[in-house]
Amino acid sequence: MSAPYVSPVPFEPVHPKTLAVYCPDGRFTEAVEDLARHLGHPRIDTLTLPGGPALLNRWASDYLESEGFTKAARFLIEGHHIEDVLMLAHAGCGYYHAKHSALGPDIAVEQQLKDLHFGAKELQTAYPHLRIHLYYVRPHGKTLEFEPIPREG
Ligand SMILES: [Zn+2]
Repeated sequence: MSAPYVSPVPFEPVHPKTLAVYCPDGRFTEAVEDLARHLGHPRIDTLTLPGGPALLNRWASDYLESEGFTKAARFLIEGHHIEDVLMLAHAGCGYYHAKHSALGPDIAVEQQLKDLHFGAKELQTAYPHLRIHLYYVRPHGKTLEFEPIPREG
């Protein structure tokens, strides 16, 4: 048997209090962690499935998938005592392309924003204490821009 690999990254036994909900798209992973640090959250829990926040909208996504994703969100928020949630949608999202491409890219963005607001409202109603932050992510050449989306209502 070969020796286990020991990571130089230290283990921190306390759960982060911030949860990021987004796509499992490796092009964004490091930048999302960087955004979280920039906002004062040095470590994050993550909840990722293609579509990210879209899956919190059971009316606009597959019902069973949405059910499972919402359950996972609740599990993390309650079990890990989450206080801040970052919800991110991104330009060129394959999930929306697959689902809404017939409607054109502008409609897809509109639906992404709708889904962000819907998901935020759902979580806020279930957990009034949460601070929920919405972002739309766009690549600009070699950089990524995180545009804060103001909450509705
Ligand atoms: Zn995506």
